[in-house]
Amino acid sequence: MSRIAPKRVERVYSEAAPLGKSDRGFPTRRARTILRALAMMLACFSTAGASAAQPELPAWTPGYLYIHHISTGRGNAAYFVMPDGTTMLVDAGEADPEFIASVAPLKPFPPRPDGSHSAGYEIARYIRQFAPAGRPVTLDYAMITHFHTDHIGTITASSPLSANGNYRLAGITEVADLIPIGTLIDRAAPDYKVPLDLRGCSEGNDAKALQNYLGLVAFRLGRGQPVVGLHAGELDQIHLRKPQAFPEFHIRNVASSGVIWTGRGSETERYIPADAVKACRFDENPFSNVIKMTYGKFDYYAGGDIPGVPDYTQPYWRDVETPVAAVVGPVDVMTLDHHGNRDSTNGAILRALRPRVIIQQNWLSPQPGEEVVVRMASREFYSGPRDVFATGMSPETRIAIGPIMDRIYKSYSGHVVIRVAPGGGTYEVFILNDADVAHEVIAHFGPYQAD
Ligand SMILES: [Zn+2]
Repeated sequence: MSRIAPKRVERVYSEAAPLGKSDRGFPTRRARTILRALAMMLACFSTAGASAAQPELPAWTPGYLYIHHISTGRGNAAYFVMPDGTTMLVDAGEADPEFIASVAPLKPFPPRPDGSHSAGYEIARYIRQFAPAGRPVTLDYAMITHFHTDHIGTITASSPLSANGNYRLAGITEVADLIPIGTLIDRAAPDYKVPLDLRGCSEGNDAKALQNYLGLVAFRLGRGQPVVGLHAGELDQIHLRKPQAFPEFHIRNVASSGVIWTGRGSETERYIPADAVKACRFDENPFSNVIKMTYGKFDYYAGGDIPGVPDYTQPYWRDVETPVAAVVGPVDVMTLDHHGNRDSTNGAILRALRPRVIIQQNWLSPQPGEEVVVRMASREFYSGPRDVFATGMSPETRIAIGPIMDRIYKSYSGHVVIRVAPGGGTYEVFILNDADVAHEVIAHFGPYQAD
């Protein structure tokens, strides 16, 4: 995968900035018109139940909550613009090519919009395009759910060195060098000792990515820039710049590093035993950060890669979804845990969350697992309609799983944007074309009633 030196990154941005609606680095008005027509035609073929496509996503204005699930084809990244303009990035992944090779014949998605730039670069470019107008582009928060490459980026020998500190650029470290981050949040700061001393782990590319990330952490702490762990159970550790302006907006920290909110005040319980892991090569997924965002009646769930379907050889704590589901309760929009892989999205979480809209952030051909699709489509867990939107999909997966997918999936590719109206009473889903950087709207769904 080709990468770009920091100097080049800066030059491209200075040419393109500020990225207003009339300047997205696209060559001509005529070319954009043609693209828009093609995108609308594509929408007719690739989506079901969409209302007439709109050419552009309405610009964010105060009072709205926008949640952009960014499609890079290479891992998770979600960009939030909250009702007062507070911004947050959750994850900045770029999956590990060595891991992908090791799981052949499974296939990764093609990189979006193409492979000419790293995922971190594309995430930063996307944020610059959709950031609130009229002020410098910054991230008030960037949260990493857990330390896997498809959430923090893969470091290779060719990854460029940062001009700032002792770390290389990929995923979150690259985004951090391109866009100022107010508070960096992960699952293990400040001591990085859960479930064991993470600083002592260096084998494997996930560990290398973590050690590299710790270089960014050291750089930030040396300059007084906050790096904090998510405090499970807390309400509003992640808060608006102007919380008093939108008192009906909150973010609840549901779980972090195996500690789960009990649902009473900010009380928590350690769910994964402190001695559960004894060696460095352990699975990060159960330790993921989990949050619930509330805006009036609107509720949104994001659980990183927590699992919920242990196999017979695994301990009880491989099911993190069931205790999480018990305290999260019903939501309007749920992101699928672990990209829709078959060890997640169990019946308990579907029964408890009852999502009207489900977002799948995926990047590899076994996502979703067939069992996950069967559970999502089943009316045994909850009644009523549900619409699923995926950031991408391998053709082989649709061929293998078959028509049950079309019963619930409304879109199989593109950036998935949730636009919540002021007050949180209604919300819409926009699908943006991920094949180029114009990001035209190719499908629009809703409005849905929040409840
Ligand atoms: Zn993942």
